[in-house]
Amino acid sequence: MGKVTGFQEFNRELPQKTPVAERVKNYNEFVGLYSDEKLNQQSARCMNCGIPFCHSGCPLGNVIPEFNDAVYRKNWDEAYQILSSTNNFPEFTGRICPAPCESACVLGINKPPVAIEEIEKHIIEVAYSKNMVKPVAPLIKTGKKVAVVGSGPAGLAAAAQLSKAGHTVTVYERDDRAGGLLRYGIPDFKLEKWVIDRRIQVMEEDGIVFKYNIEVGKTIPADELVRANDAVVLAGGSTIPRDLPIPGRHFKGVHFAMDFLKQQNKRVSSTSFEMEEIIANGKDVIVIGGGDTGSDCVGTSNRQGAASVKQFEVMVQPPEKRTAHMPWPTYPMVLKTTSSHEEGVDRFWGINTKEFLGDENGELRAIKVADVSWEIDVMGRPMKFSEVEGSEREIPCQRVFLAMGFVNPQFEGALQQLNVALDERKNVKAIEGKYRTNVSKVFAAGDMRRGQSLVVWAISEGREAARKVDEFLMGHSNLESKDAVN
Ligand code: FAD
Repeated sequence: MGKVTGFQEFNRELPQKTPVAERVKNYNEFVGLYSDEKLNQQSARCMNCGIPFCHSGCPLGNVIPEFNDAVYRKNWDEAYQILSSTNNFPEFTGRICPAPCESACVLGINKPPVAIEEIEKHIIEVAYSKNMVKPVAPLIKTGKKVAVVGSGPAGLAAAAQLSKAGHTVTVYERDDRAGGLLRYGIPDFKLEKWVIDRRIQVMEEDGIVFKYNIEVGKTIPADELVRANDAVVLAGGSTIPRDLPIPGRHFKGVHFAMDFLKQQNKRVSSTSFEMEEIIANGKDVIVIGGGDTGSDCVGTSNRQGAASVKQFEVMVQPPEKRTAHMPWPTYPMVLKTTSSHEEGVDRFWGINTKEFLGDENGELRAIKVADVSWEIDVMGRPMKFSEVEGSEREIPCQRVFLAMGFVNPQFEGALQQLNVALDERKNVKAIEGKYRTNVSKVFAAGDMRRGQSLVVWAISEGREAARKVDEFLMGHSNLESKDAVN
């Protein structure tokens, strides 16, 4: 490594964030950039560890010590080449990845890990500023046509890789713009949308065609798409939200998180929407669900001027540090505090929602909850909960956002028309590593196959599925595989 003693000399530091009081006034990103000196020091913290577990901690197999070293030497071309050889979209992961690579960092055993995610973001931003991010499609085309259904990170990664292999790629998207949940799920304060537009422009220059406002299976029949192409990649995401079918679910004011988040994203981008407006301003908000979607509802509610924000989770509070049951270097299930939590929220753990209560006008006025205690198995995993006697109470609120995850992809439409087989969780059945469904020529990737997951996994699946499509079409593939890296 460039500076072998760097990890002893420098502490982990993250770029400055805009103070809470300022940043909640708008929807802009609020994490700054390192100075040149700080970036140099942070990359110097990557030590010459014998086995860099960060490679396997990252679902993309990012070659992290090598790009850290190139950053330390200020060799931006090399850093960008290394990073982009495994990750098509570091500008997304560098902003919103929970960074399993950092959990696997060897330095993290007894010191704070290398700030890999931030370094990644800096490499790609420098690469854009120095005009290094250019179309990569080969001059020789294969003459094969591939359709990609869905323009989330999985579909985009598949499209980018297939185009790189010389195939003619068309992406079909039912929304009016590309990005999937990056566009209309994740708020701008985590990922401003010009970041997606900038990438789509490069992909279009690459020759990839994007067709918007087309729902495959509705606007066009799915089998027609299969007939007209040599292969199809299904990357439609996991879009059916988990509901809470308890008494009072019908009261006005109880909404799915995605309905709330999507329309705020549309407001920020001045895009019209037809659904009833959902506004948290002046309301007492309760967010049910403790994951990324829940914390995005917290951040959005605070920006809209909610009177109060609470977040409920039925699970017990996770530990602050790894326990013996989550050994390094696996991704630890520890308490996550996101930037939205810094902005104001009361978090409650081990609490079960039993009923929504409304007034005579059908408006939500409170929820009835009770504390729960969990039976824990020998591995420390919560198995079954029971209500704590005498803990039932009402908590006043006028807005509830249900952020309890997504159960499976939408079956009606494309999947139904194609007769695609599903697995026991009702995701598209296509074995990991093969990505091929039961339908001839049809592959699947991302949340639609894997179930709800992370952006980094969606990109990884899109890349790996593209390689399998390329092998199917050409008999072999020269596209990179993460198995070759690690
Ligand atoms: P999606 O991103 O869901 O994209 C699927 C696309 O397919 C959509 O654009 C959809 O419109 C389109 N589509 C579906 N059916 C059709 C059809 N029939 N025809 C045409 N188009 C179709 N992950 C992280 O790593 N970090 C985070 O901070 C994070 N925050 C999140 C916040 C929220 C609110 C949510 C909901 C998720 C978050 N995630 C996060 C998870 C992450 O966004 C997903 O795992 C990832 O986007 C999945 O990518 P995908 O391409 O498989 O699907």
